[in-house]
Amino acid sequence: MLSAAILAELQALLGVDRVFADAATLALYASDETPKSCLPDAVLFPTSHDDVVAIVQLANRHRLALVARGAGSGNVGGAMPVTGSLVVSFECMTRIIEFDAANRLVVVEPGVVTDDIDALANTVGLMYAPDPGSGAYCRIGGNLAMNAAGPRCVKYGATRDHVLGLRAVTGDGREIRVGGRTTKYATAYDLTRLLVGSEGTLALITEATLKLIPAPESVATLRVCYASNAAACAAVSRIMAQPVVPSALEFMDRRAIDTIREYGAAEGLPTGTQAVLMVEADGVAADVPRQIAALEHSLVGDGLLEIQSGFTAEAIAALWIARKSLSHAVKKIAPLKINEDVVVPVARLANLVNAIDALGKHHGVPIVSFGHAGNGNLHVNLMVHADDADEMTRARNCRDALIEAVIGLGGSLSGEHGIGSEKRHYVGRELDAATLAMMRDVKRLFDPLGLLNPGKKLPDEQAAR
Ligand SMILES: Cc1cc2nc3c(=O)[nH]c(=O)nc-3n(C[C@H](O)[C@H](O)[C@H](O)COP(=O)(O)OP(=O)(O)OC[C@H]3O[C@@H](n4cnc5c(N)ncnc54)[C@H](O)[C@@H]3O)c2cc1C
Repeated sequence: MLSAAILAELQALLGVDRVFADAATLALYASDETPKSCLPDAVLFPTSHDDVVAIVQLANRHRLALVARGAGSGNVGGAMPVTGSLVVSFECMTRIIEFDAANRLVVVEPGVVTDDIDALANTVGLMYAPDPGSGAYCRIGGNLAMNAAGPRCVKYGATRDHVLGLRAVTGDGREIRVGGRTTKYATAYDLTRLLVGSEGTLALITEATLKLIPAPESVATLRVCYASNAAACAAVSRIMAQPVVPSALEFMDRRAIDTIREYGAAEGLPTGTQAVLMVEADGVAADVPRQIAALEHSLVGDGLLEIQSGFTAEAIAALWIARKSLSHAVKKIAPLKINEDVVVPVARLANLVNAIDALGKHHGVPIVSFGHAGNGNLHVNLMVHADDADEMTRARNCRDALIEAVIGLGGSLSGEHGIGSEKRHYVGRELDAATLAMMRDVKRLFDPLGLLNPGKKLPDEQAAR
């Protein structure tokens, strides 16, 4: 528990209305989307970069752990407190500092909601491309820390590809400014790319200069049904092997399709549909039909049941709402989802899907798979009951085998959700000892006392040996 003296010190720094240590607030900030929790000692709401510097300096004086937090929508325990920690919530740092349409950039504080940045850009015909499914409520600071991505990233890249520069506070309280305001930059080490995806373990991001790009004039959508997962994956490979890059290429397996029936998004599916692809093309209006024709050509193959096009804007919106609801909707299959976010080289997606099918059958665990097929990134959800010890053991074994299979395919533990507290014990399986040691050195350089988000991202040193 925080001493009264430290609490008073925090209140003097930030103001009494920016420091909360009451039971209700602590409970509210004890977890993210991960079904685990740990009460922090206090929740802090800085309103400026200087507040953040002051918090980090105080944490150094008293050796207190700091856990940065955006909206808490992460699903790997990244924003979950650790015992004795202070949560630094960026919810009150929501200023758009600068919107420079001429230079296609926006400078924002970390608490700005992701979709709001895109909406602002849209007002002048631009867009902020990364579009996580949680975009309506997650914060840009959380996106930066996790290198978040979404359906559009198959064409436009993930968060990391849309950051020009950052202002941040390191674990020992130094202010750093990395990157710049230009789309070309060759002066410094690329610390911007290092901080993006560092999950709040190296520095607290207080400002981000983000790249905006022209919004497409027109978007067209296809819903494509296949008789098997293998047939759908073969189509994904064909699409990604030809020159027209879709602006979305999403996969849903049969259980995922069943889950979204109540959203009306599975209406009129041909009998025997086992997998659905959602495919989009975007660009100048005159060119989109050419792109769609090329994509349709690649979608045709064994096991194709139907290609449906010509959706109304409302129908497209309904499709996306259904697709983006899957993360929560799958919980009606079983109350607990063990959510993996694995990624493999896209031409090996079929191998991954085959491995998932085989593992689910072998371990007797229902698995729902969906996700960003064009990037080889699937959300693999093992649906279980926490009170069924036997099922939980089977699920853990299944998860272990899945990770082995993914690494064997040249893939990675996480495509976009990050590592947090929940996947760090697997990191040593993917990264070699020298790379892990280098990552620990980097961590020590930024955060000598190890105060920033301890117990996240990196495996325990003991366990890694
Ligand atoms: C329904 C649903 C759909 C989702 N869809 C997607 C998706 O399509 N793509 C995707 O990538 N993710 C998705 N996610 C996961 C999640 O929304 C993302 O990881 C998102 O980036 C988290 O943002 P947040 O603001 O909620 O961050 P939080 O969960 O609060 O924090 C995430 C991490 O960022 C760190 N952090 C937060 N702010 C800062 C800061 N200012 N400086 C340093 N570190 C910071 C935290 O310490 C933590 O480690 C989804 C989640 C849900 C619930």
